[in-house]
Amino acid sequence: MIKKSLFGVIPPCFSYDRYGEHSESVTIQTPDSVTLLIDKEHDYPVSKSILKAGDLVIQNEVLKINDNAINYVVTPISGEILEISHYSGFYGREHHAIKIKAIDDGKTDDIFAVCKEKADLENALKYLKGIPGSPDFNVFKDFNINTVVINCADSDMGVFTNQFILNNSANDIKSGIKSLKSISGNKDLRFILAIPDNLMKPSELSDFDEVKVNQKYPSAFPIQICEDLLGINVPAGTTTEEQGVAFFTSETAASIGSAYIKGEIPFEKTITVTKKDGSIVFVKAMMGTPLNAIFNELDITLTDGDRIISGGLMTGNSVYSEFQPVLADTDGLIIQDSADVVIASDTPCINCGDCIRVCPSKIQISMLVRYIEAGEYEDAQDMYDLDSCIECGICSYVCVAKIPLLQFIKLAKHELGLKELEMEETDAE
Ligand code: SF4
Ligand code: SF4
Repeated sequence: MIKKSLFGVIPPCFSYDRYGEHSESVTIQTPDSVTLLIDKEHDYPVSKSILKAGDLVIQNEVLKINDNAINYVVTPISGEILEISHYSGFYGREHHAIKIKAIDDGKTDDIFAVCKEKADLENALKYLKGIPGSPDFNVFKDFNINTVVINCADSDMGVFTNQFILNNSANDIKSGIKSLKSISGNKDLRFILAIPDNLMKPSELSDFDEVKVNQKYPSAFPIQICEDLLGINVPAGTTTEEQGVAFFTSETAASIGSAYIKGEIPFEKTITVTKKDGSIVFVKAMMGTPLNAIFNELDITLTDGDRIISGGLMTGNSVYSEFQPVLADTDGLIIQDSADVVIASDTPCINCGDCIRVCPSKIQISMLVRYIEAGEYEDAQDMYDLDSCIECGICSYVCVAKIPLLQFIKLAKHELGLKELEMEETDAE
């Protein structure tokens, strides 16, 4: 919800919509085929793949492009590999896409079942990297984490997935917290639940401390929770982990809990789907399911010019194929009718200053974006505070010239990240 001010000088107020405590969801049937993504590693192009079309795989099998590769995906179904191709993700991120045709052979790899006995960092890293929310367990290795926040408030507007999980899977969240403590190896680890201020903490979670997230966007962003509710400053260019605070969503915590209770790797993703008429449906779909299977089930018909957005209203990304698979971070899907689609333009900035007025990080965005457009990423970082941007997307939303400001900012950060990686690799040689 967006409240406009009467006077142009007062920034408009953006607030999260209230979640209506839904308990029903639509389960999408296992599709005929799934597409699984593995992040590409420089050393292992498709040409060096040990997996090939025609190979048979069984449910729960860990698939790697090469035996020595770090990245992997666990297949949710048994079947035959139809194709391994290159997949270009958001901002040019490179993946291998493995398409598997389902064959119901009743076989399953039970390799994770033995991990039920004890959750630890080794088995979490080995099998659970790709579960809903893509948890980064390396934070317990790379940083001195003393606090874990289970974020039950969805960061973006128009997404309610983590609130749905809080209301409907509190027992799994509780088990997930126990497993996370064991994975961290730190018995003094403190857990805090971040809960929207209109929701009650379920009784199953009464043992844990909570902080209440207010409705003002972007108060559910991890950095905002740290600064506003935990009183921990996160300096520009640093992460919450560097300050000792790790974030896991309630869906991730519930998935971890369910994994160790059942001894099974979870593949079911909960998604908030917003239809063209604005109505909301919660969907449970196996990761790898093509989006069109969801649209068919919900009777959503796409016509020329309609837009599919993966994520929320402010920070979501356009999806260009209805065959894109459900991913571990597909929390929201918004289907916009062509009549409602706002097209980004190449109109120059008119210096209205609206973006600067609304920015929670007080960045001079109109100047910053000029440097980014010119490819001067280092200058954007050094002179115009690129690192202070929390990527909330409010600036893009208000820009009268419809400049895709958030996309420019994300691109610049991505390019700078690649440069940094290259330098680290050169130094290591
Ligand atoms: S996306 Fe970044 S620059 Fe834009 S309003 Fe948010 S914090 Fe400011
Ligand atoms: S809102 Fe858009 S047009 Fe206005 S100053 Fe910012 S970038 Fe320029």
